[in-house]
Amino acid sequence: MSGAGTATLAVIGAGPKAIAVAAKAAELRAMGVDVPDVVVIERSGVGANWQAVGGWTDGQHRLGTSPEKDVGFPYRSTLVPRRNAELDERMTRHSWQAYLIASAQFAEWVDRGRPAPTHSGWSRYLRWVADNVGMTVLADEVVGVDVRDDRWALSTTRQTVQADGLMITGPGQAHRCILPHDPRVLSIAQFWSRAAGRELIAADRVAVIGGGETAASMLNELFRHRVSTITVISPQVTLFTRGEGFFENTLFSDPTDWTSLTLAERRDAFARTDRGVFSARVQDALLADDRIRHLRGRVAHAVARDDRIRLTLSSNRSGEALETVHGFDLVIDGSGADAMWFTPLLRQQARDLLELGLGAPLAGDVLEESIGVDLAVSGVTPKLFLPGLAGLMQGPGFPNLSCLGLLSDRVLGARYPRRADADEITRRTDEHQPVR
Ligand SMILES: Cc1cc2nc3c(=O)[nH]c(=O)nc-3n(C[C@H](O)[C@H](O)[C@H](O)COP(=O)(O)OP(=O)(O)OC[C@H]3O[C@@H](n4cnc5c(N)ncnc54)[C@H](O)[C@@H]3O)c2cc1C
Repeated sequence: MSGAGTATLAVIGAGPKAIAVAAKAAELRAMGVDVPDVVVIERSGVGANWQAVGGWTDGQHRLGTSPEKDVGFPYRSTLVPRRNAELDERMTRHSWQAYLIASAQFAEWVDRGRPAPTHSGWSRYLRWVADNVGMTVLADEVVGVDVRDDRWALSTTRQTVQADGLMITGPGQAHRCILPHDPRVLSIAQFWSRAAGRELIAADRVAVIGGGETAASMLNELFRHRVSTITVISPQVTLFTRGEGFFENTLFSDPTDWTSLTLAERRDAFARTDRGVFSARVQDALLADDRIRHLRGRVAHAVARDDRIRLTLSSNRSGEALETVHGFDLVIDGSGADAMWFTPLLRQQARDLLELGLGAPLAGDVLEESIGVDLAVSGVTPKLFLPGLAGLMQGPGFPNLSCLGLLSDRVLGARYPRRADADEITRRTDEHQPVR
């Protein structure tokens, strides 16, 4: 699939991360720089998770972050000494504003006060970039990940794709559900499928499990349905609001100082700004609606009994484990987002390779702490890029849309043993000196 000396980088999922990497690779190639061939394998369609088909939205809700945080943001490339300004200028051709200008929407967008686009509007932008850069997309589902001859071997439903590097993207499985066969318990995908079909949900007591951006979007949608109370269940002390002020945003856009923090400080920053935190826009709506309440705890168990779904919640009060049971007419399981979603795809040899590199059994916290500057698992060859798990070690913006331009720098700056001689990207990412 790649010429001699040119590595192949396979990406699972044609979302913003894949597109950011493919766009920068295309521009670097146009500048005469040797970069990996980027091959994206996508089961549904480019930008699928931002449309109803992906199961995470009905496409009508709005992006939480600013659309100017696009595939090139923050336009501070550090990959090619003395030519980074040229690279950034080239990347602006794939910016949100370039898209609006190309599609004759720019003046209206400005006049309307630069609104956040709907998720489906955002997916149209993503597809525009992918088309413009000629992103290679294999329309197929990855069903297994293995290693053969020091390369990744990805089994899809039709073929095996070999690659020197692998980047895994996406939030997980929207179909996950705590009680899959009970119609009163909906997965994220089932909920959005009903919303997209304009089906009105009517229930007295509704529970939404999970507190992050996924749950926030669902709450935003639930407001317009016939429900008496909505209980948000999450382990956090309460429903925190993300401030979205300059200092918090900077933490996401520019991780320069992130690595100088202790792990405890980073976890604290995460808890305040990311995990289970709602954006200010959703919080404003929540506060105005007296149907919403919060219940602290983790759902340990769910059972259908006496016309209700009974959820057993475990929590910790004053150092003591506590279990309480609560009944609901409808439960929406919003806990499907899981950065470790890909582990069932790993075949034995791939799993062994990772555990050997990690020096420990495969687990979320071990993997998280192993992510290096290039967003790959340290000590593992071939390269496995896991930006979804890079927040703790490299910066909270890498798992989301906050610094896609920086993400593409880190991933494309990685060294591949097979192409070391041909590599023209002179700066090693592990030195990471900004050079303009
Ligand atoms: C409803 C919602 C709203 C969000 N809003 C924001 C926001 O405003 N700002 C922000 O920064 N973050 C937001 N996020 C977080 C968001 O997930 C990430 O920021 C972003 O989507 C990640 O992009 P990605 O490229 O990793 O993956 P995605 O865009 O999620 O794409 C993953 C792709 O992988 C494909 N796929 C999955 N499994 C396979 C397989 N086995 N084989 C082949 N293809 C596969 C899927 O079809 C999908 O197209 C939101 C998340 C959700 C769910």
